[in-house]
Amino acid sequence: MTITAPHASTGNAPLGNALEQLRAAAESLEIDDGSVQLLSQARREISVGVPLRRDDGTVEVFRGYRVQHNFTRGPAKGGVRFAPSVDLDEVRALAMWMTWKCALVDLPYGGAKGGVAIDPRRYSDAEIERVTRRYTSEILPVIGPDRDIPAPDVGTDERTMAWMMDTFSVSHGFTVQSVVTGKPIALGGSLGRATSTSRGVALVALAALDRRGVAPTAATAAVQGFGKVGRHAARFLAEAGVRVRAVSDQYAAVVHTDGLDVDALGRHVDAHGTVAGFPGADPMDHDDLLGLDVTLLVPAAVEGVIHRDNVERVRAEIVVEGANGPVTTAADAELAARGVLVVPDILANAGGVIVSYFEWVQAKQTYRWSLDTVESRLRDRMLGAWDAVSDEQRARGGTLREAAMRIAVARVLDAHRNRGLYP
Ligand code: GLU
Repeated sequence: MTITAPHASTGNAPLGNALEQLRAAAESLEIDDGSVQLLSQARREISVGVPLRRDDGTVEVFRGYRVQHNFTRGPAKGGVRFAPSVDLDEVRALAMWMTWKCALVDLPYGGAKGGVAIDPRRYSDAEIERVTRRYTSEILPVIGPDRDIPAPDVGTDERTMAWMMDTFSVSHGFTVQSVVTGKPIALGGSLGRATSTSRGVALVALAALDRRGVAPTAATAAVQGFGKVGRHAARFLAEAGVRVRAVSDQYAAVVHTDGLDVDALGRHVDAHGTVAGFPGADPMDHDDLLGLDVTLLVPAAVEGVIHRDNVERVRAEIVVEGANGPVTTAADAELAARGVLVVPDILANAGGVIVSYFEWVQAKQTYRWSLDTVESRLRDRMLGAWDAVSDEQRARGGTLREAAMRIAVARVLDAHRNRGLYP
């Protein structure tokens, strides 16, 4: 099996982009070099071998990681990714973005990320369960409800979280619900968690439209990715009156100029596993989705998809980053120069970790909240963060990303300064 570094050929390595974003924020905040060094590096990194006995009896070994970028403001928090592209630098970047995301929406958490370099589609459910349990056992010493709380990400889901929670609980001898979030409802998962990232994406997309003076019913959208984030984001946007013209997944893309029937598309994907062949739309080239003439472009798949070599094709007025790191630093500068409003990932997709926080609080309280409570508190946090970022941008200029990063980095640094340096 070959594992290649993600995006190596187009210079889109996510860690380079994450460090460049930090550098820009540090310059704008006039942060000293020592503090920049402190924030550039992960507090703790663990790299583990994950052996799997396959269903046919042979053994394969995968590489797994957990990076805790920062836990100065509270326990580390962030997802676990199962994807062939996973490597240490990718996990480092994603962990750093979690630190800023949690700080921006003022959750009492630091940032972490984990992953296993495996293509989950090539293995049986039983094999994925064994990989999950072994990976969890390997990182057991560094996770826990007050240490580091994993959650789903690309290639993992609520079932993965159930296995992680079970493995942790069995090894401790009692049930520990608050060790992971994004669990099934039956195991203490929160109402509203499954659609929370998408709700947040739609809320800020509508706020961005409002800022540009475009009514939802006058807007069109293209959504890249029809998984955990893109699928429900497309649905919520359509429910608000936006015509969702095109959607893609990892296999194909479909387009309908007057707007797709997103619910019917969802049923098609449930039945066939891909948007390909959806009878209510025309097929389109996968790469052409980014260049569609739409108001809103929502990249909701993986990092590095809008880069130096394809940014000139983007025609949308507003880009809402449903994924983590979908726009590289070079492309970001180009979009800003053209007046495209980019709603940055640490704001746009924060709905997931916000409701993860609610799930963790509910587990610690052993008290369930209603769906209404979850959704109204999610809305308050998302729109509160949107207002804070917009106000910061208006006051000090730059892009929404620069404003969001200034707020987040300043909060983390403030926590460091208050705690002091030990010894
Ligand atoms: N993986 C999601 C993210 O990137 C959620 C993380 C969490 O809930 O901890 O924000």
